[in-house]
Amino acid sequence: MPAVTVDDILVLPRVHRPDPAVAKARPVKAVVQAISTFEGEGFPVRRPFPGKLSLVDTDPFLLLDQMGAVEYAPGEPKGTPWHPHRGFETVTYIMDGAFAHRDSTGGGGLISDGDTQWMTAGSGLLHIETPPEELVVSGGLFHGVQLWVNLPRDVKMTAPRYQDLSRGDTVLLSSDDGGALIRLIAGELDGHSGPGITYTPITYAHATIEPGAQLSIPWRRDYNSMVYVLSGSGTAGAEGRPIREGQLAVFGEGDHLVLSADATQDSRAPKLDVLLLGGQPIREPIFHYGPFVMNTRDEVVQAVTDFQAGRMGIIPPEPERRRSTSA
Ligand code: FE
Repeated sequence: MPAVTVDDILVLPRVHRPDPAVAKARPVKAVVQAISTFEGEGFPVRRPFPGKLSLVDTDPFLLLDQMGAVEYAPGEPKGTPWHPHRGFETVTYIMDGAFAHRDSTGGGGLISDGDTQWMTAGSGLLHIETPPEELVVSGGLFHGVQLWVNLPRDVKMTAPRYQDLSRGDTVLLSSDDGGALIRLIAGELDGHSGPGITYTPITYAHATIEPGAQLSIPWRRDYNSMVYVLSGSGTAGAEGRPIREGQLAVFGEGDHLVLSADATQDSRAPKLDVLLLGGQPIREPIFHYGPFVMNTRDEVVQAVTDFQAGRMGIIPPEPERRRSTSA
């Protein structure tokens, strides 16, 4: 159950339902199953891309990881070690639970229960992402996603930047009949604007669709379009292609998106929860190596050299509180 819900969806602004007589529903081009893997110190993730899709298919997006949903036992939650990034943006959206973050510039913070942290790595930094000590001690529910958004060549080396988007900043919208709640995190949807500011024009939203309901929404023609199923089951496209938890639907060209939730859902996941993703493809060459995503091999070699020379920053000392509790 995502932390951000509303008591009365009918008071929210509504996204209009496109008229199928004049607007073309985007067809489903492919449905791919996420790969189950481990990240960082061994926390389980589902990764719909990259993998079976090429970076051309997902451009301007590079990677999507679903972390959880998992009910951690005390002492079990894991995070990442210190690691660098250069050349793109990481967007971390926590639906349930919390994630703490620190970086080599001295920045950091805690995001929880519907908050989003938007980090433009740009020219590079080092960071660490961990569950907060309270969650490690107590255990508990954790569910989040991390999306990597590519940067075009002319801003790859921009200075690192953060946007902390609290759950209160998220723009909440309703489908035309109140059957779906849309949390708009970034970009534009039917004239509404989400709080995230992006170098690459994108739309990023999390929708919860009630059992038996249909979400039909306009989608910019010049954006690509993908839908990832966080939980539940339903269909994608006017043609009704089945989709379920852990699957990503890639849409072809058109004016709007159609998604339907099955009338009967699993009791563990009573609604269809999806991420809506779309953006303007950058269409530049990509050369990537681990946490560095550049245009050419030489630029990646330079990134590795800069990282090894400490030019992306160095690991700062542990904060006082941590030192004292671990002593
Ligand atoms: Fe990272």
